[in-house]
Amino acid sequence: MYTHLILMDVDGTMIKNHLAVREQFIGALEDVSGQKRKSHTSGVEFAGMTDRGIVRTILESVGRGADFEDFFPKFEARFRDRLASIYNDHPDPMLLPGVMELLDELGQRDHVALALGTGNCRSTCEVKLQRFGLWDRFGAGGFGGEHEIRSDALKAGVEEARDRLGWEDGTVWVVGDTVRDVAAAREIGAKVLAVATGPDSLEELRTSAPDILVEDLSDTAAILEALGV
Ligand SMILES: [Mg+2]
Repeated sequence: MYTHLILMDVDGTMIKNHLAVREQFIGALEDVSGQKRKSHTSGVEFAGMTDRGIVRTILESVGRGADFEDFFPKFEARFRDRLASIYNDHPDPMLLPGVMELLDELGQRDHVALALGTGNCRSTCEVKLQRFGLWDRFGAGGFGGEHEIRSDALKAGVEEARDRLGWEDGTVWVVGDTVRDVAAAREIGAKVLAVATGPDSLEELRTSAPDILVEDLSDTAAILEALGV
């Protein structure tokens, strides 16, 4: 029986993408809207946001918020196709330090359930994690292409872990790289491990008061101990 459920964020926590993903995201917006979007996305924050939230913000900024529900599925399909065509061979994406070792260790523990809790769309998350052979490590997840509010995506990750993995009750950990991850974790009553490998600095993360704060995930033994697994 599981005693711990760990919800992993993707971008900035497990994978660093640099510009590889953002270019395809904006390209898909342009393809589906028929409009140049670069000027509108320059000030939009992506980190810690859900894909639904980012797209809605951009559409609203150009007065097309009413199109959102019709627009988003087309956008996701296009974004997924664009990403799949470049991602595997793109030089930018890299696995962050310690991620593989940590997932290997967690995966060996029968009492630990592993799931995703991410602002990504399910389909594009699969493209990203498949490149590193990690998609199959996660039997469940909550995704930002299905839930606009980050804490709702995390809640959905817990629910899917119940349905698919047999998670019942115990300690839920969120592992993420932004203050938004920490806030969303608190909203669902989860503990949170913050890692400063994304856009938010160690100091910024510290002000959000995570249970554990690390520069990166490379000290596997210390992290396992801190997680209590
Ligand atoms: Mg992230």
